[in-house]
Amino acid sequence: MLIVMEHDATEPQIERVCSAIRSLGLDARPMPGAERTAIGIVGNERPVDPARFAGLPGVRQTLSVSAPYKQVSREWRREDTVIELANGTRIGGRQVVVMGGPCAVESEQQLFAAAEVVAGAGATVLRGGAFKPRTSPYAFQGLGVEGLELLAKARDRFGLAVVTEAMDPEGARVVADFADIVQIGARNMQNYALLREVGRLGRPVMLKRGMSATVKEWLLAAEYILAEGNPHVMLCERGIRGFDDATRNVLDVGSIALVKRLSHLPVIGDPSHATGVRDLVVPAARASIAAGADGVIVETHPNPAEALSDGQQALPPERFTSMVGELRAIAEVLGRGLVGL
Ligand code: PEP
Ligand code: MN
Repeated sequence: MLIVMEHDATEPQIERVCSAIRSLGLDARPMPGAERTAIGIVGNERPVDPARFAGLPGVRQTLSVSAPYKQVSREWRREDTVIELANGTRIGGRQVVVMGGPCAVESEQQLFAAAEVVAGAGATVLRGGAFKPRTSPYAFQGLGVEGLELLAKARDRFGLAVVTEAMDPEGARVVADFADIVQIGARNMQNYALLREVGRLGRPVMLKRGMSATVKEWLLAAEYILAEGNPHVMLCERGIRGFDDATRNVLDVGSIALVKRLSHLPVIGDPSHATGVRDLVVPAARASIAAGADGVIVETHPNPAEALSDGQQALPPERFTSMVGELRAIAEVLGRGLVGL
């Protein structure tokens, strides 16, 4: 970090900043210039909080030279992180992964019908919410533990891995007992108690981007999980809020490419929540893979018209199946291919 002093900063003010830096066990390197003095901080293993210096007299500006997140950055780890699941699915490697399933687990019949489609299409991870964070408290909230039990049954039956959401720290402990991947939803991206808990649990985590979160905030949220000792984190771009309600959200496809550059963590696109419109889901899925995503998570329902949540964006079975073929072709052009079992 660089601390830039005002042009009329006095020697005692410069010395005060230097001693504040030294009190943290770090080295201060004042660099007098023609106009003003800048003070470099060296020797920091972790990012330094700029707020510690911003308020000192004579300080004009603090400039971070390295990213505020450490362990999630490419500087920390050059090679891509690859997350391996119990059914053999590798996320973040050469091949692209497809995750599919209903928004919410509704019944054994519905979930098994969806799982059959997902496995039959060649996808390897089954999604389905048991604990649902709904915008309205009167909307279907999910089956809870019964939903988790159905997911576990479907996993055994179809050989799929399972991803499902946890909404609070207690719930995360229960979800981690059943799921291969614990999903943190957009609404909880900055629920730091929850992030720390999934960091301690050690199960793979899919961290969705908050609907109004900057890329930096998203990566800092991931840093919470890694800082607790869990390196198995994938980032999910699920669309951000825009000014236009023509689509539910705006797929930030550029952020997929950007985050692949900034971080070694796998990135997953969620074209379902990004668009919220069935006919737009497949094009957005194609765009996600084309932009460099390591996979997609897509909602599909055996009978979208009767879905208890997000029916308007659920793909009918045949469209899910044809999408997987299209994504395979795109992945192959990029020299990647699709994860299969
Ligand atoms: C979901 O995956 O069904 C979901 C609620 O997603 P998000 O948190 O991205 O809104
Ligand atoms: Mn949904």
